[in-house]
Amino acid sequence: MKRIVIAIDGLSSCGKSTMAKDLAKTIGYIYIDSGAMYRAVTFYALENGLISDSGVINEERLMSDIKENKVKISFILDEHTQRPLTCLNGVVVEKDIRLMRVSEHVSPIAALPFVREALTRQQQAMGEEKGIVMDGRDIGTTVFPNAELKIYVKASAEIRAKRRYDELLAKGEKDICMDSIIKNVKERDEIDQNRAVSPLRKAEDALVLDNSNMTIEEQKQWLMDRFNERVCQN
Ligand code: C5P
Repeated sequence: MKRIVIAIDGLSSCGKSTMAKDLAKTIGYIYIDSGAMYRAVTFYALENGLISDSGVINEERLMSDIKENKVKISFILDEHTQRPLTCLNGVVVEKDIRLMRVSEHVSPIAALPFVREALTRQQQAMGEEKGIVMDGRDIGTTVFPNAELKIYVKASAEIRAKRRYDELLAKGEKDICMDSIIKNVKERDEIDQNRAVSPLRKAEDALVLDNSNMTIEEQKQWLMDRFNERVCQN
């Protein structure tokens, strides 16, 4: 059967990754979480003192570190769950990149053109062989404008914040406050949709999924149906 590229875009915490991961596992495709790559760069910047307490980014240093290949991002598969784990310079940082302090700084980092250029190039190389599901903000518009199946996922900010809250709680993160999560979700929406380079937009040929009132199982089935339709057409 012909292998295709599947691009899943949408606002933060709308369940894209869960859907994308499940679909990839079911159909035997590679799954790439492009948000994890932006998070890994942000974690690198935080760990190396490239973001000041007031949020100012040392762009010059970050740019030269990226150019000098000091920010290497890769993925390995978790032996037990078969889920991909994000690595930064060979070290698994999957948990670190999901912390609130990373979420708070990731959108300004992701708005930097040199960061986007470097990661977009890497993402395009990952999709050369097709058979890939990638989720993010600009996958159907910039990374894979010719993707055979494009999905744009949306849900209300309150519902997305509640999902994020439950996720952080389940991971054992302490001191989480619903108000600060709603604030973070809205701030990221604002930056992601209004940045100059590759802002979050629905690609013209993307199918829209509003999953505000859907269970994970329903979303899974919806996506599987769209995949089957698309492969039958190709
Ligand atoms: O998907 P996730 O919420 O983990 O992504 C973290 C952040 O990375 C987003 O808020 C966005 O600023 C950025 N991002 C991006 N382009 C992508 C994926 C993520 O700008 N393709």
